[in-house]
Amino acid sequence: MEAHELRNKYGPDTLRARLEAEGFSRTTLSFYRYVRLADPAAMRNELYAEWEALGVLGRIYLAQEGINAQLSVPTHQFEAFRKAIDARTEFDGVPFKIAVEDDGKSFLKLTLKVRHKLVADGLHDEVFDVSNVGQHLDAESFNQLMEQGATVVDMRNNYECLIGHFEGALLPEAETFRGAVEEMLEKLEDKKEEPILLYCTGGIRCEKASAWFRHHGFTQVGQLHGGIIDYARQVRAKELPSRYKGQNFVFDGRLAERITNDVVSTCFQCVLASDRITNCQQHTCNVLLVQCEACATKYADCCTPSCREIHLLPEEVQREWRKGKPSASAKMKAIRDPEALRKRISEEEAVLAGGGSLHTELTEIIIDAADGSDIARHLNTRDSGSRPE
Ligand SMILES: [Zn+2]
Ligand SMILES: [Zn+2]
Repeated sequence: MEAHELRNKYGPDTLRARLEAEGFSRTTLSFYRYVRLADPAAMRNELYAEWEALGVLGRIYLAQEGINAQLSVPTHQFEAFRKAIDARTEFDGVPFKIAVEDDGKSFLKLTLKVRHKLVADGLHDEVFDVSNVGQHLDAESFNQLMEQGATVVDMRNNYECLIGHFEGALLPEAETFRGAVEEMLEKLEDKKEEPILLYCTGGIRCEKASAWFRHHGFTQVGQLHGGIIDYARQVRAKELPSRYKGQNFVFDGRLAERITNDVVSTCFQCVLASDRITNCQQHTCNVLLVQCEACATKYADCCTPSCREIHLLPEEVQREWRKGKPSASAKMKAIRDPEALRKRISEEEAVLAGGGSLHTELTEIIIDAADGSDIARHLNTRDSGSRPE
């Protein structure tokens, strides 16, 4: 088969409709392995053909250093998929992490990408031994070591920790993996001889992080094998107490999967307990925030009155307004300072209450519009305090 055929050709609406109409259940799972792949590009094409035939959807990265896969498999094809994986010596026996909260709609298409590195981590592999990893721990031993007072370290990025984390864990302020690793090395400088426990979403980042910690002289490094995803599965299967509280941040359409009913965060806007994580719906913003249902209604799913003012305009005016403005970065980012956000909100609300606009350039858009009548009517009658009908 030609390589150019080995990709999805349909738009998101078609794909979503197709997924809705499937009529069978899907199992969402992830796996990864650091293993030498001689020719990732050739393997990519083989796997695409093989998995597409099984109806697999998901996002998979291949590199010479291994594979990192998040995907959904039609449940009736699960055994066939497992067999296909085990048939390859590189992946034989790789443990699957099955998602706990799963509507099977996490992925719309199958994407396999070849990358230079598995995780864009910014750590320089040549200076340390990536296979010199920490001790792999299952949920039970992780809990035990926690009880014995080991320091627990969250190796995710700051925004991933907002809505759930292990009790008493050291949480990073950094927005990147490399930043988080460096930050933690500094914070734990005087704990090199003490037990430290690392965890991340699926375990793969801890492979690198633990080797990096050991390289820097840490002697008792443990890591949660399979990450939070598999921890949650083990806790349920073995009826263990969950020391992880709240939700697990995930990188697909769901944004989060619930591990326990604890709510560990507060709404960025009203400070009431909430762990509803969402993106600002204003296209050029898209920032991540914790926002309760009431505030979502009040701010029309936006982070600020300023974003709301734009988001509530008719689509054609929004398009006009967006012209020449940079689009939101594809990179995930969250609001860093909820207090500053609340200050900005109250300042903006004051401007609106005084009859002002937060975007004076909007009047120019009305004038510039060739067929301005309709747009002008919408702009003049807009009500910034409610959702559009
Ligand atoms: Zn709120
Ligand atoms: Zn916004």
